Amino acid sequence: MKALRKLAGGEGHVELVDIPTPSPGSGQVLLRVKSVGICGTDLHIWEGRFDKVRPPVTLGHEFAGEVAELGPEVVGWQKGQRVVSESQASSCGTCVYCEQGQSNVCPERLAYGYGVDGGMAEYALVRADGLHALPENVSFQQGAMVEPLAVAVHAVMERGVTLGQGPALVSGPGPIGLLVLMVLAQAGVPALVCGTSKDQARLELAARLGAGATVMVDQEDLGQAAQDFTSGLGFAAAWECSGAGPALSAALTNVRRQGEVVQVGLAGGAPTVDVDQLTLKEITLRGAFVHNRETWERAVQLLGEGALDLTPLISAEMPLGDWQSAFELSRDQAGIKYLLRPGE
Ligand SMILES: [Zn+2]
Ligand SMILES: [Zn+2]
Repeated sequence: MKALRKLAGGEGHVELVDIPTPSPGSGQVLLRVKSVGICGTDLHIWEGRFDKVRPPVTLGHEFAGEVAELGPEVVGWQKGQRVVSESQASSCGTCVYCEQGQSNVCPERLAYGYGVDGGMAEYALVRADGLHALPENVSFQQGAMVEPLAVAVHAVMERGVTLGQGPALVSGPGPIGLLVLMVLAQAGVPALVCGTSKDQARLELAARLGAGATVMVDQEDLGQAAQDFTSGLGFAAAWECSGAGPALSAALTNVRRQGEVVQVGLAGGAPTVDVDQLTLKEITLRGAFVHNRETWERAVQLLGEGALDLTPLISAEMPLGDWQSAFELSRDQAGIKYLLRPGE
């Protein structure tokens, strides 16, 4: 089968190669991949800027497909069934976090696409207990976006304690920021989305997706816009999805007293922020990292109920063979989410 693999460490070394189609062992299912999303992580692996990758490995952790083959002792699934696979390939199962259903922070968590072979291939070998059936109204393309949606659902519904107590700030209108906005909007929380003038098209999309206001922080006064949007009170909560230090500072400045900031974006360094604001305003600062099984159930349910439509975020779906142009378009931020279609 054709698979897009990282063959060695460093920059590049990503190639579409032929490898044997794997067969499922106990507890595993072989998926015929129908759609797989390109994520920032895949770009970082391509550029040699992601040290958790274990080459040689097949890329892709956002994928949906059909059950092609069941391993021994696998029950509850049938060939041909439409499913999405969780991105977590394994966790230890015995640590305090795993025992509480929070394997997202298990120290031994491994994910498809960099720790274990992932979904940028005609077939993917996955754990049967990480599958979720796709409701009939949810396409494979939307199925491939359940992973980033689950990141947003976890950040908003599972890590946001003040959800619904007032207007929210979302910084960084990339795929995750826009999904956070959509989850907030369907929960009835008014949100202001900010970015820079480079994000103009993404901010326009944010407005169409339900943002109450949008701000380009290098051209407009975010503080004034925040005052106007929140009737002078400040935001009840902020979701920082850009990973930019100044965006975290702006979140701390513009949340109200006893407000909350959820850090979703990774900064890749140590940004300088005014910690005194945490103290003086009694701000709660929390991190949000990926998702758990329950999060995936929530995300699939939201799509099944039609509460969210992710199609406006899909910029294009291209054959797996055209991966390089799709990666380049993603890197150049010429759109929101690019999907690859294996098997042709
Ligand atoms: Zn991702
Ligand atoms: Zn564990």
